[in-house]
Amino acid sequence: MQIVSVEPFILHVPVTGQEIADSMHRLTHWGVPGVILHTDSGLSGCGYSGTHAHLPTDRLIAGFIAQTAAPLLLGEDPARIEHLWKKIYHFPPAQWVGRAGITHLGLGAIDVALWDLRAKAAGKPLWQLMSAQAEAPKLEAYNTDGGWLNLARETVVANAKRFTQEEGFRGVKLKIGKPDPAEDLARVAAVRKAIGPGVKLMVDANGKWPLQTALEWCPRLRELDVYWIEEPLWYDDIPAHAELAARSEIPVALGEQLYSFHDFRNFIRAGAVRFVQPDVTRLAGVTEWKQVADLAAEHDLPVAAHVGDMMQVHLHTSLAHPACAILEYIPWIRRCFTEPATVQDGDFVPPQEPGAGTTLTAEAIEKFAQPLQ
Ligand code: MG
Repeated sequence: MQIVSVEPFILHVPVTGQEIADSMHRLTHWGVPGVILHTDSGLSGCGYSGTHAHLPTDRLIAGFIAQTAAPLLLGEDPARIEHLWKKIYHFPPAQWVGRAGITHLGLGAIDVALWDLRAKAAGKPLWQLMSAQAEAPKLEAYNTDGGWLNLARETVVANAKRFTQEEGFRGVKLKIGKPDPAEDLARVAAVRKAIGPGVKLMVDANGKWPLQTALEWCPRLRELDVYWIEEPLWYDDIPAHAELAARSEIPVALGEQLYSFHDFRNFIRAGAVRFVQPDVTRLAGVTEWKQVADLAAEHDLPVAAHVGDMMQVHLHTSLAHPACAILEYIPWIRRCFTEPATVQDGDFVPPQEPGAGTTLTAEAIEKFAQPLQ
């Protein structure tokens, strides 16, 4: 099989409601810059990244794919994923300007498209191909899409109640990082009271807190049986996370802002993380995600992927990897796919279509595609 054309695309898909916010970000659409790799066999593979739907930066990713990576891919055999990953990653002009950031997000989209092609060529869903198992294990879903920081306390409480008491979810995540941490605590307490004990309740500060704030407030969150605290401190600060992990009883979760296997290895070696949260759209695709998940497993650390892809690919990689028992649920772009990620009775339904779950519907492309130039 040979790659005969490389077709970048950008979709902007509205999020649930008008606008969502966490302590660091605010957005109305989810950006899906990606690529379709066409082959001489007639099969195509699709991969994409996840962004805040800012067209100028999405065009940088699409431009990297079209102008820098495409010439390295054309005529190649898409089955040689590791070879192609290294060919692009080590391409000197690209490496010079970024082993992280735009070039890495572009490589991630390409890598996902290659895995999609591999699974389609094998006639299997990716999880089955990666795990070599016919039966999928249970994969629990927890719902993130009701706990945004810009929502009123009553709304957050009502959402958590609906998810857990009507829709079958056994876990919810709440954003924290208000100017006064006492307000965060009150919101978490209200949600805990509404959902009762026995339901997983995670909190996510998106890197906002200084170490002293985290040291002061984590014990109070612990009293509310918080399952993990996600990105409590600035993304790159390994010593501060290590200190918090050592002094706090709440497990620390992180990884959505880490670009490489080496970043994860540094955090894990420092004892700075408990729940490991790799993302195929931030790392360079399934290839690097699997390296991180394997590393976490070697250290007996659970993996709970961050869904920059909005679940489609991570549903497969998580079902395939023994370190994964839980995955985040955010439904913003699921309507764009031929087989959307679906939850039933609190667990994800194993996909059956061949591929990585990334095949877009014609309607989604027509409705959400943005001009590349
Ligand atoms: Mg997060």
